[in-house]
Amino acid sequence: MRRIVGNWKANGSTAQAQALCAALPAPPAGVDVTVCPPLCLLWAARGSLPPGIRLGAQDVSRVDGGAFTGEVTAPMLLDAGCVLALVGHSERRQQGAEDDALIGLKLRACWRHGLLPVLCVGETAAQRRDGSTDAVLAAQVGRVLAGAPPAPLWMAYEPVWAIGTGQAATPEDCARGIAVIRAAVAEAWPAAPPVPCLYGGSVHPANCAAFWREGGADGALVGGASLDAAAFVAICRLAGDA
Ligand code: PEP
Repeated sequence: MRRIVGNWKANGSTAQAQALCAALPAPPAGVDVTVCPPLCLLWAARGSLPPGIRLGAQDVSRVDGGAFTGEVTAPMLLDAGCVLALVGHSERRQQGAEDDALIGLKLRACWRHGLLPVLCVGETAAQRRDGSTDAVLAAQVGRVLAGAPPAPLWMAYEPVWAIGTGQAATPEDCARGIAVIRAAVAEAWPAAPPVPCLYGGSVHPANCAAFWREGGADGALVGGASLDAAAFVAICRLAGDA
């Protein structure tokens, strides 16, 4: 099973969300497809998606409800039809000043309510340059999972320097990052089966297959290309090819 998750980021209107969803066919056999619209477009997307494409959220609150103005909780996301939430996306880490402690609380909020977290980790360009990629990935995973018993989880290896830049990782970079992430999850959860690990960062139809064929990824987290129906459909179709 390959997994494709589309992250629309802060893009789209009701009409655009409906048009984009209506242009998506049901996923090919063996491919699990989820789209993550902005929160205010979840209901518009829900009404327009074809059967088989699931809804996700781009973030989730650490709290379950109450006097927390602006927060959107895991129960609310489930009520809106979401099955998963991205947690720790680098844009949240950098623009929302989220640290691993907060990200860990968000994972636990997902687990309390049965929402699947997709934990995003990745090194910056400076960390890549100074040779600390492996240590950064292992530390991010280790800090977030510390003390948590095994629970449903997808991982996403998202090199920060590759996100939205058009400069994707090589399949070799991908394979190495995913191996480090898998080892870090296995260290935190020694008795648990391996968790799916996606690659994200400037994925498009011409490069996607290399990430699962040579890069060891179980699928892709797709940002910019998920806003282009033809490109997103092509990526999903390629994920279904043997
Ligand atoms: C992302 O938003 O997680 C992402 C990988 O974006 P892009 O595909 O545009 O690099």
